[in-house]
Amino acid sequence: MGIKACDRNGCDRIMCDNYSDQFGYLCFECMTELQSKAGNITIGDFMASPKGADKPAEPATLDDIDAAFNPS
Ligand SMILES: [Zn+2]
Repeated sequence: MGIKACDRNGCDRIMCDNYSDQFGYLCFECMTELQSKAGNITIGDFMASPKGADKPAEPATLDDIDAAFNPS
């Protein structure tokens, strides 16, 4: 007790404002992510999912492609 560490898998934030008897503490960042996934994931699965591991890959932009492939 005291530091209120986020109980989400892989999250090391402390002083979390959100608390659940069932799931423990959740930081603001994880709460925002969970809210964005409402309807798509159970809270249990979300808490067990590694933080930041399931972000969708950003589609490559033309600038990304230009930066990745330099003329030889
Ligand atoms: Zn968190």
